[in-house]
Amino acid sequence: MKQTLAERVNFHCSMCDAPTLGPKTGTNDKRFSVGKAAHIKAAAPGGPRYDKSQTAAERSAIENGIWACATCADLIDRDPDAYEPTELLLIKADAEWLAGTRAGRPPGSDLPALQASTAITRAVAVFCRQEAVRQERRDPRFNVSVSMAKSGPMYEFCAKEPVDARFVIRTRGRRRETDALRDFMQYGGELVLEGMEVGMEGSPLFPSEDVATKRLEITSHPRPIIMTVALDAGASVPLYIDFPGQATHGNKGFRFTGSTMGSMLTISMIGDFSVSSPDFKLNFDLKSWERKPMGRLPHFSKMRQILQMLDRPVPVEVKCTHEDVESDFGSGILDGREPFRLLHTFMAEIEDLRKLDAFFDLGLVMPADFEDIFHDQGDITQLIGLVDIDKADDPTVEVSLVPEEPSVPLHELIASQKPAAIRLSQELTMRIFGRAYGPFEVEVTCPAAVVTPIGPANIEVGVPIRLTLRAAEGNRWSARVSSRP
Ligand SMILES: [Zn+2]
Repeated sequence: MKQTLAERVNFHCSMCDAPTLGPKTGTNDKRFSVGKAAHIKAAAPGGPRYDKSQTAAERSAIENGIWACATCADLIDRDPDAYEPTELLLIKADAEWLAGTRAGRPPGSDLPALQASTAITRAVAVFCRQEAVRQERRDPRFNVSVSMAKSGPMYEFCAKEPVDARFVIRTRGRRRETDALRDFMQYGGELVLEGMEVGMEGSPLFPSEDVATKRLEITSHPRPIIMTVALDAGASVPLYIDFPGQATHGNKGFRFTGSTMGSMLTISMIGDFSVSSPDFKLNFDLKSWERKPMGRLPHFSKMRQILQMLDRPVPVEVKCTHEDVESDFGSGILDGREPFRLLHTFMAEIEDLRKLDAFFDLGLVMPADFEDIFHDQGDITQLIGLVDIDKADDPTVEVSLVPEEPSVPLHELIASQKPAAIRLSQELTMRIFGRAYGPFEVEVTCPAAVVTPIGPANIEVGVPIRLTLRAAEGNRWSARVSSRP
């Protein structure tokens, strides 16, 4: 069984691809082996990846074994959490597949023979896994993963424990690179450097004769953090916004980015450990509103609420929560008037359009180009006045009309100054985003209003007259669409 396991991978290590057999020195008929049959799930309780649901037969079956060189076999048994059984099964399948493609062919001919794209993808995956294992064997203090990037294999090294090693990057004195490196050291984050000379002191990784680094990405270990910003912090009901995100830190301070409401609102901040007022930037991204029905814009009311608060200088407090521990990040004043000037206008326009949309049932859809919001409709202020008439502070309405005979009721209303039920009707059309809507008939009514002429003083049939209609105490005007096209 052990023999078959080894034969199925042509006596190569399933992990790192090293051959496991050789001729025993000083003999003509003996061989030495550095191969071992390792258990995928342990043979005995307490062993690595032990599965108590397995039967004894399953434990000793060939399906539960993987052929590996002595080093790799030790690695998977002594660092049991480094590999899941499913991963080992995958590695084993890869190794057997590779042995199959190689059998009967001279060395190196296996790759050109790969024509189907699935076979190529598979070969690349095999290479990446074996390369990761090979690097981890070099320095087991690191988790290594290898993936194929456009320019070649990309290595990702992640220290499992504090490693006393120095990563040496030669920047050739270029200012931009030195600055970027310094910033990375101070606040952590992500750094991408191209064409650097890279080496490691204190670890056998990155031997310069082996690795020609073209592109270097360094990431300091990000931690999940929730940053909470309280707007109008002194008020009885501050507005709390939680930003889940990632924080990194360096020797001087930290860097955080987080977002909320489906990434529509993002916060990025850099804070120095020595300073208690963090500097942060809010960024609004309303792209997800593109082409959406105006009446159902995601997070519209929350967005509007936030922006309304930012329309004046407001006290803010920043707290952060990491692993259920809350800490203060200081406070300050945030003045969003200037930074979000355009956004304030934009939101006001949207709010008006949403009112018209709801009132006239227009079925408006957000344009693909938000510039259209500012340009593409006529003056809608008057329409908004009409739609909002029930909320108006001013109880008076001014109208012009041409009296038709006989106009006795109007005479009487003016003469008596007694409140009466009024109903006015108006035909409206509007143009929004280049499309015409209407005509709608809008009825404006008030249960009790007093009519006063502005001029002329005498009512004559066929002569236009201007009137003031004032809602009597306790009454309001209201508007509704009485007929639509
Ligand atoms: Zn090996």
